[in-house]
Amino acid sequence: MYKAPVDEISFTLKHVAGMAGALESGALGDLGEDLVDAILSEAGRFATEEVAPLGDVGDRQGSRLVDGKVETPDGWRDLYHNWIGGGWNGLTAPEEFGGQNLPHMLHVAAMEMWNAGSMAFALGPTLTMGAVEALEKHGSEALKATYLPKMVSGEWTGTMNLTEPHAGSDLGVLKTRAERRDDGSYRIFGQKIFITWGEHDFTDNIVHLVLARLPDAPAGTRGISLFLVPKFLVNADGSLGERNDLFCHSLEHKLGIHGSPTCTMIYGDGRFGAEKGAVGYLIGEENRGLACMFTMMNNARLAVGMQGVAIADAATQKAIAFAKERTQGKAPGWSGQGMSPIIEHPDVARMLLTMKALTQGSRAIAYACAHAVDMGHVEGDSAAYWQERSSLLTPIAKSFATDAGVDVASLGVQVHGGMGFIEETGAARYLRDARIAPIYEGTNGIQAIDLVTRKLPLSGGAHVRGFIAELREIASAVSASNREGFGQTAARLDAALDDLTDATEWLLAAVSAGQLSEALAGATAYQRLFGLALTGAYLAKGGLAEASDGKDEQRIALSRFAAENMLAETSALKDRVVTGADSLAAARAVLG
Ligand SMILES: Cc1cc2nc3c(=O)[nH]c(=O)nc-3n(C[C@H](O)[C@H](O)[C@H](O)COP(=O)(O)OP(=O)(O)OC[C@H]3O[C@@H](n4cnc5c(N)ncnc54)[C@H](O)[C@@H]3O)c2cc1C
Repeated sequence: MYKAPVDEISFTLKHVAGMAGALESGALGDLGEDLVDAILSEAGRFATEEVAPLGDVGDRQGSRLVDGKVETPDGWRDLYHNWIGGGWNGLTAPEEFGGQNLPHMLHVAAMEMWNAGSMAFALGPTLTMGAVEALEKHGSEALKATYLPKMVSGEWTGTMNLTEPHAGSDLGVLKTRAERRDDGSYRIFGQKIFITWGEHDFTDNIVHLVLARLPDAPAGTRGISLFLVPKFLVNADGSLGERNDLFCHSLEHKLGIHGSPTCTMIYGDGRFGAEKGAVGYLIGEENRGLACMFTMMNNARLAVGMQGVAIADAATQKAIAFAKERTQGKAPGWSGQGMSPIIEHPDVARMLLTMKALTQGSRAIAYACAHAVDMGHVEGDSAAYWQERSSLLTPIAKSFATDAGVDVASLGVQVHGGMGFIEETGAARYLRDARIAPIYEGTNGIQAIDLVTRKLPLSGGAHVRGFIAELREIASAVSASNREGFGQTAARLDAALDDLTDATEWLLAAVSAGQLSEALAGATAYQRLFGLALTGAYLAKGGLAEASDGKDEQRIALSRFAAENMLAETSALKDRVVTGADSLAAARAVLG
């Protein structure tokens, strides 16, 4: 069973991602280390003792649509109410609306633990938090006063309604229609698909944020508006009024996250309400809806990245426990009685260490991204620099961590052998659950395009170059530490950073010359190259912090394993970026 790794998380936050410096400099207000530790420990306890035991139930039972209502798995409603009772829903929300205004770093760490307990469960609150952020930044005072306190407390949940059958990655073609009414409200008509937690039995009301198009809107992404569309209208005194004209038509049957209801939502077919059309209220300005969504998109993408880290950690814990119990054959050098535990076999140890390194590397990248988000909110000269850093890191955190979630969960199945393929073991659930994270909230392919075409050119390329220079300082510090345990870490990290530099320069030149086909052919390879180089750098940074603590050298050993076993891949990835486009173009005809 999953046990939240609170100490590891706390170490990574403070000594790798930058929280210790932020606390010391006062950038996080009067937040102190004691409070950080207390919050992490309680979030971890909740994940371990309350969420994780209900993860399997959710997977087996799933959510069901019965007579138009969604019934969630046994125990999940109480779990949700215990969770909001702990105040967790409003961790980062503004105090004005009942939130705790705590840093993003704490939030992502807590999210990791809840998602590891059950990704399907934690996904619901992730959407509510995204809706809170969009409403808080762009909603009118009246809308905020009516909806935010209850969404922040978790009394009502929120959803994001972007996707339509023909509009996924390209939202510019969405068709859901909005009509103006004389009283300033709107009526919404259309169908949305894949809406996470679009209907459920946790709360009395659900607040949908819906993208739709006005009749006179320009075509494409510049003609999309954002509306708040509640399941039940809200009376002037805050009580619930009439049922709005929307409903959940069906639930998807999915590969994983069975507990999370994925809904097809119908708006405005006249089933409910006096007048046909779901009542909606504009958020922000007409035709500026996508821009409103984009302000919260970075945090939502990071939140999905945390799901990858979460699954990777849970899968690693399970695989290590199994590999210590399961005995087969005799490992080279095994001197014990009978067969050796499979963890003694070099190939199994290789798998487990790869799982550990990917988990800790993607955790560090995601937390570093959250640190940059927090620092970007601190007023002062450095805010713009940190905002660029979080922009640059977001696609890498989302894609590398979610790919790691899949890769690690797949290795976890492999470590279990045949038992990994059997559902009762639980290793398969992690693989099934993990598989959606590289797809939603912008596919990882879309993240790679964002990274190469929008993030690398930030400050004319100066930001990414400066970042790589910072990473080189880690390699130098490893070299200067003279710790034998690091082995070839410094040299391997330097070589990986050379590959990253070469690929970055090539892409910057290609993008600025307008050679988009060439640049995008290698975008995903580049994204992985960046993630791997960061993994090498951040594991080494953790090792350096451990060395100065004078404790045992486990972090140094893992850093060396990653550097000497995994970083060699960066050279092949660089080649794919720099020389892969021509062969891809030449082979295109093979696909017909
Ligand atoms: C379980 C689940 C929950 C979801 N929850 C929500 C939710 O709550 N709200 C919501 O609005 N949506 C939700 N979604 C939808 C999800 O965000 C979309 O599935 C995702 O954005 C991809 O869109 P698509 O499925 O239409 O794929 P497509 O956009 O058709 O993409 C198919 C493939 O083509 C690639 N591709 C597409 N365009 C390009 C391009 N320009 N360049 C390169 N490659 C490209 C993609 O990377 C992908 O590999 C959910 C989906 C699932 C399965």
